[in-house]
Formats: sequence, structure tokens, C-alpha cells
Amino acid sequence: MTNANPSSSKEEFHFFADVCSYVDQAAKYSNHDPGLLAQIKACNSVYRFQFPIRKGNSFEIVHAWRVEHSHHMSPTKGGIRYSDMVNEDEVMALAALMTYKCAIVNVPFGGAKGGIKINPKNYSVAELENITRRYTVELTKKNFIGPGIDVPAPDYGSGEREMSWIADTYLAMNPGSLDALGCVTGKPIALHGITGRKEATGRGVAYAIRECVSVAEDMKKLGLTPGLEGKKIIVQGLGNVGYHTSKFLLELGATIVGFCEYEGAIYNEDGLDLEDVIKHRKESGSILAYSKAKKEFKNSAEGLEQPCDILVPAALENQITEKNVGRLQAKIIGEGANGPTTPGAAAAFLEKGGIIVPDMYANAGGVTVSYFEWLKNLSHVAFGRMARRYDENSSTNLMNLIESTTGITLSAEQRRVVVKGASELELVNSGLEDTMVRSYHEIREKKMQRNIDSLRTAAFVVAVDKIATSYSNMGIWP
Ligand code: NAD
Repeated sequence: MTNANPSSSKEEFHFFADVCSYVDQAAKYSNHDPGLLAQIKACNSVYRFQFPIRKGNSFEIVHAWRVEHSHHMSPTKGGIRYSDMVNEDEVMALAALMTYKCAIVNVPFGGAKGGIKINPKNYSVAELENITRRYTVELTKKNFIGPGIDVPAPDYGSGEREMSWIADTYLAMNPGSLDALGCVTGKPIALHGITGRKEATGRGVAYAIRECVSVAEDMKKLGLTPGLEGKKIIVQGLGNVGYHTSKFLLELGATIVGFCEYEGAIYNEDGLDLEDVIKHRKESGSILAYSKAKKEFKNSAEGLEQPCDILVPAALENQITEKNVGRLQAKIIGEGANGPTTPGAAAAFLEKGGIIVPDMYANAGGVTVSYFEWLKNLSHVAFGRMARRYDENSSTNLMNLIESTTGITLSAEQRRVVVKGASELELVNSGLEDTMVRSYHEIREKKMQRNIDSLRTAAFVVAVDKIATSYSNMGIWP
């Protein structure tokens, strides 16, 4: 058997304390009862467990967690991280961030998070399936999963495939349960997932950055022009979040000048072609030695320090620390990952006059669309299915009436644009964009109204105020 109990080195970690310190900072701008604040900060349920799996002719112990941070709303919700770096403190911190994130974007869930302490690269697909199914069984046995209880989703190291295994295992253990498929989100479309979920977090990060740079007054203070057009951006991490953030930022007119991956970083101040970089990495196994890069760095962290307007860390936590923050050239950090900037680094960056678009708002697109997926699973019908043809027919009748009364004839293309009913993807993207736009300005307005030092603190003030209201309305029972 391998893998000793990982909780022995717990005292090294303080990510959860960092998240709590953000709440303490936010509390100064409100007037909540200290007991209520203590309840808001605490992790309500921490389930640490282990199970054996077969590996070749031997056995291995897998360590895992599921943390439900807050039950001010049900179900709780949060991704499952597959990483050999996972520890209890990290899962608690990420669960807490989920609570605040959901409150900020008005998604009616409490926060949760899961962790499986493995490096997925060291396991075959069959072994990963065993691990995922066993993890789901353990959660089911302890009532830590269910469409009305706790709903996992993908996170670092997991994706649609793992979510399918979870859904299928839960369904097998709850035969006949009509809503069983709402037990997990981020599923493939063919297994009752929702269009647009895969790219939702990255799309949301791109909208968050677009909103930030749209405020002329704030950009003036940074010496930047408003708008994404021509903004130079470095992205760390080319996984789900990093790739899609890059894709949508490019579509919105930005230039990606640098990519940082775990094997190294590449840079070209004139811009890099995302799809070509991905193709090169797929073929060669590395982003390094890319012929159209002007510079490359074997030490990936150096890539973060190159000239740009905006830095998007979209890989892991603790990437921008007090050690490297002074060398960053970006004026804006758009946090795609959870917890990529340590509190000390964040303070130093703000001191220099920079803006941080904080993680629990910036990467909330994933949970927003997960919410739409959950709603779809509970209603058992795809968005737009009932109304689409009816809307198209109504609009056609209206167009016919306008043409006959005005004598103006629309072109086929004009007619198509006006008459077309919304597809599920269009509804999802429009709901996502609306959420990201409204939430950014809610946070920024709170910052201005209460003279708050940063968008992160303002976002926590928004979140804590809403959670406090929920807890106060619920009262305490029994
Ligand atoms: P992922 O596994 O798809 O991608 C992570 C990428 O980061 C990988 O390509 C990996 O090689 C790279 N990476 C790892 N270490 C690195 C390093 N030291 N330097 C540079 N690159 C490195 O994971 P993801 O789903 O994209 O998640 C990334 C971050 O975004 C995590 O912090 C996660 O919690 C957060 N997040 C994800 C979602 C989601 O919907 N997937 C939602 C909200 C937040």
C-alpha cells in the first residue's frame, strides 16, 4: 500500500485562513453580528475519507474530501479537484470561495468543494473510472451528494468524463429517482448536460475583464484606454479556463502576447495564435520550441513577468506572491483560477495602483451555467424548446404585418435575424453575459459607495451582506 495520511503536514497551509481574512476585511464595511460572521466563515461539514483501489497486482489508498461550507442555501455546489497537491485546507478554502461566489452572482446555492489526492496522469482511464465511481459511492453513503443536497462539478484535473461517471454511479444507486441527473453538473450534452457549460468559466472571465476595462474612469487612472481592443494579455494555464478565456478575449479584440504552462512559457509582443499554439503543444508535447514565439522561458513563472496590460492566471492558486508581484508589468490581474494571488501580493499590487478582478467573481461563469444545467435537469426540458418555434411564428406574423403596412420588404437575411427564435446556447450565453455584467457593476458600485479599497473586498461585502440576510431570515432551528 502507498500514500501515507496527508493531513500530517496540514499546518503548512493557510489558504482557508486567507479566505477568512478577506471576510474579516469586508466585515469592517458592514455591521453584522460577530457570531453571525463566525457562522458565515465556518465550514459546516468537512468529510475526509479514504478508500482502496487496485493498481496492478497491488492496492493503493486514495485520500479524498468533500467539504460543504455553507447551508444558507441548498443544495451546496462546487467542483472536484483531482490533484496530488490537494489538501484539506485547500478544499475548505475553495468550498468557502464557492459560497461567496454563488452569492455574488445570485446563484441560489451554498458553497462546497471536493478533492481527490491523485495525479490523474499516473492512472489509466479504467483506474480513474474506479476512483471516481468509488468516490461517488462514498459520498452517496454519507448523504454528501444529491440534486437537493450537494452537486459537484468539474475542477482542476476533472471534466465531462468524470462527471458522467459520477452521474451514472449516482443514478445506479438511486434507481427511479427522477431528478438523479441533477446530482452533478458539467456533464456531456448527451448525458443531460447543457450547451455552453464547458466554455462558460472562460467566457465569464473574458466578460469580467471586458467589463473592467470598459470603465473609462478606472482605465484613465491606469494610463490605459477603455475597451479590450489592442490590450496585451498574458494567460497562465491552457486548460479549460485558460484556453476558453484566451479564445473569447481574442474574439473580443484583445491580443494574447504570452502563454505560461507548467513546462515553460512563450511570448511574442505582436500576439500569439491560440489554436496554432495548442496544435504545436499537442504535436510536440510542450509549448516550448514554438517557432512563432520571440521569447521562451523554461522557468514558466518568468512568463508572468513579461510586458502586458492584463495578466490572467488560470492554472492554480498561489502563483502571484510577494516574491514575484514586484516584477509583474501588468496593470490588471484577471483571476481565472481560484486563489492565484496571495493576500500579501494582492496588497502590493493594489499599492502600485493596479486593479485585481477577483476570482470569486471573475470565474463565476462556470457555476452560473452549472445552475442553468441543474435547472434544465430538474425541469427535464432543454431551454428554448417550448417557445422557440412559437416565437419565430409570432415574429414572422409581425414582420409580415410591418411589410404589408409600410410597403418595405426586408431582405432574407434581415428577416432571418429578426425572426429567429433563441437556441439553448444563445439563452445560456445571454444569461451568463447578463450575470457577469450586472455583478461587475454591483461590486464596483459597492466599492465606490462605501469607499472600499479593492474589488475583492467589495465583492466580499456584496456576498457577506447577502449571506447574512439569508441566515437572518432563516433563523436558528431547533
Ligand atoms: P485544467 O486542469 O483544465 O487546466 C489547468 C491548466 O494549468 C493545465 O493545462 C495545467 O497544465 C496548467 N498548469 C498547472 N500547473 C501550472 C503552472 N505551475 N504554471 C502554468 N500552468 C500550469 O483546470 P481548469 O478547470 O482550467 O481550472 C484552472 C483553475 O480555474 C483552477 O484554479 C480552478 O479551481 C479554477 N476554476 C475552474 C472552473 C471550471 O469550470 N473548470 C471554474 C471556476 C474556477
